[in-house]
Amino acid sequence: MAKVHELLGAGPCVSFEFFPPRTDEAARALEKALAELEPLAPSFVSVTYGAGGSTRARTREIVLDILAATSMTPMAHLTCAGHRRAELVEILDGYREAGVENILALAGDPPSGTTSAPPPVDFRYALELVELVRERGPFSVGVAAHPEGHPRSTTRTDDRRHLAAKLAAADFGITQFFFRARDYFTMVEELDALGVERPVVPGVMPVTNVGQVERFAALSGAAFPPELAERLQAVADRPEDVRRIGVEVATELCAELLDGGAPGLHFYTLNRSTATREIYANLGLGPGRPPFDVIADRR
Ligand SMILES: Cc1cc2nc3c(=O)[nH]c(=O)nc-3n(C[C@H](O)[C@H](O)[C@H](O)COP(=O)(O)OP(=O)(O)OC[C@H]3O[C@@H](n4cnc5c(N)ncnc54)[C@H](O)[C@@H]3O)c2cc1C
Repeated sequence: MAKVHELLGAGPCVSFEFFPPRTDEAARALEKALAELEPLAPSFVSVTYGAGGSTRARTREIVLDILAATSMTPMAHLTCAGHRRAELVEILDGYREAGVENILALAGDPPSGTTSAPPPVDFRYALELVELVRERGPFSVGVAAHPEGHPRSTTRTDDRRHLAAKLAAADFGITQFFFRARDYFTMVEELDALGVERPVVPGVMPVTNVGQVERFAALSGAAFPPELAERLQAVADRPEDVRRIGVEVATELCAELLDGGAPGLHFYTLNRSTATREIYANLGLGPGRPPFDVIADRR
């Protein structure tokens, strides 16, 4: 069984996200992270897709390597940004033929920092890509969710309405990272009220570098809580302490999410293994025990 929605149907899942490296050194770091995280037996692992272009082929290579050479189930991210329909069809058919069963269907963001016009596209919203993925094969299809609302949304109500429609067409959701469990649970309640039945897995980003996470948070619309920023700023010149606090805070968030009934955890690993392994151990998850056994024991 390697379809993400079936795994989620069997019990809580833990998954890890990676991105395609741009340099040889970064490629070695990714290889190391994959090797160190495989023994944790994640339910699945995902590889992001650069809507901007330069690493797009690498996503496919890494997904196929994971499928062929590891015990882990891969999920390929794919964006409509940067592609015509025919290109998306070719990519999806290639995945289907290679035996990749899971796709995270995203709108993606048009490349920033360039003055040239973005390439022409046929789809604007992730929902259109979900529909194409359905047409191209029996994939398990996931979509992105933004607990604090997507930065391009004009109102929270519209954002939730679009998300509910997207989830109705897909099999599951994975959220953008956030720092307050209540943002996730509020989103789940609002989706419940709209009749959504699909599981939405919370995404967790352990803070190991203050500047980097503040930048990501600003881009994704996630609020960086002032009390956390203050705690981290107080030790900003001691990277080990920043990391320790980041792991502590992420462990508390994960525990609150699992105890509140979240269907799993999706870790943004940033191609590093240490923080994820530490949080895993703190939660009592680990090699040899499926995440759902440990999570069931906590409840
Ligand atoms: C788990 C996760 C993984 C990600 N992985 C990647 C990745 O690999 N590569 C990458 O480039 N980006 C990735 N992203 C970022 C994502 O591509 C961006 O957040 C993007 O801006 C929106 O993508 P979406 O799929 O949520 O878009 P959509 O669901 O299309 O939503 C985008 C905006 O449009 C609005 N909207 C949707 N439908 C309609 C409609 N019919 N009419 C009007 N408005 C509408 C929504 O409310 C929202 O404001 C990821 C995000 C998450 C949470």
